[in-house]
Amino acid sequence: MPHLMNVYARLPIAFSHGQGAWIYDEQGRRYLDALAGIAVNTLGHGHPRLVKALSEQVERLIHTSNLYQVREQEELADKLAELSGMDECFFCNSGCEANEAAIKLARLYGHNKGIEQPAIIVMEKAFHGRTLATLSATGNRKVQAGFEPLVAGFVRVPFDDLAAVEAVAQHNSSVVAVLFEPIQGEGGIRLAHDEYIQGLRQICDAKGWLLMVDEVQCGTGRTGRWFAHQHAGVMPDVMTLAKGLGSGLPIGACLAAGKAAGVFKLGSHGSTFGGNPLACVAALTTLAVIEQDGLMENALRLGEFIRSGFRTALAGLSSVTEIRGDGLMIGIELDRPCGELVQHALDAGLLINVTADKVVRLLPPMIFNEAEAQELVAKLAPLIREFQGS
Ligand code: PLP
Repeated sequence: MPHLMNVYARLPIAFSHGQGAWIYDEQGRRYLDALAGIAVNTLGHGHPRLVKALSEQVERLIHTSNLYQVREQEELADKLAELSGMDECFFCNSGCEANEAAIKLARLYGHNKGIEQPAIIVMEKAFHGRTLATLSATGNRKVQAGFEPLVAGFVRVPFDDLAAVEAVAQHNSSVVAVLFEPIQGEGGIRLAHDEYIQGLRQICDAKGWLLMVDEVQCGTGRTGRWFAHQHAGVMPDVMTLAKGLGSGLPIGACLAAGKAAGVFKLGSHGSTFGGNPLACVAALTTLAVIEQDGLMENALRLGEFIRSGFRTALAGLSSVTEIRGDGLMIGIELDRPCGELVQHALDAGLLINVTADKVVRLLPPMIFNEAEAQELVAKLAPLIREFQGS
């Protein structure tokens, strides 16, 4: 421990193995995992199909390099294009890298149009990562403080407020793109209205801007559609993915369509590990299991079940201001900071998270079942009740 850089406020617990939605600590105590590695373990732990596919791939080939053709990468790009309607795909290893690619792509798109200082509209309370460009795009001072000078070229507006974007459109001729999360995850499970996303599409079309959706947390089936923006019936020009795409194997993707496709040319971007065969097999297997086992329908049904379970169990509790979400992306907002609930839940054998100080965030694996959903409500609701009383 003394040799680890002290950047995480870690809980005093280490896990040794897991099965499905259950995970076991070093003492053998089991916990219901309602966080899935922060929306990463889409298929839960130890999923037999994923374990088999990965084991076979490890034996065959782990890494080659992007100096050569990588068949698994081609296959994954085809699958993502089929599911999203996007035209082309760049693979990397994480969410911030996927967003870095999107930001670079938007800048290059602007320069190609003769805009010397291209700017991207970003949102308050957004989270896009911790590299220099993505922390500059992030709408949280805590993430930025101490790392100035920030990367220039971002214009910040309130989230889910079309008039604010329209105002920028009238006065700023350097804007080339809008980057936003259809559901803000770190920002507290805050949902953009469908009309807002449709309105952004219209403004982007009118102004020749790129509509760029960060689906790193809300994408890959979690909201009951392959991608959260699909609920609004619009097509973005750029979409970023990571987290749940590989069910635990690191992989990120930046997809482009229409006028954003073809912007990156030979040598514009690259990544040593990006799109390696092992990560691509993890993603291909994740997408196949979601599709074949009806996990998006499961996410929709259980998401509703969990939210309505909490609405009933927490009815009349004045500290709960809102229960919201989409599919298996669920937020319970309180009127006070509630970080200590994480430890109480852990003591009760449950993994949850608190984000934006006051929002209990639940991101169960997509293989969650009804009994587990019931257990989640039964374990957590009393803790929130006791917390109000304390
Ligand atoms: N974008 C969103 C919406 C995220 O939620 C996150 C991580 O929480 C990121 C980007 C950054 O992803 P990573 O931690 O893989 O760099």
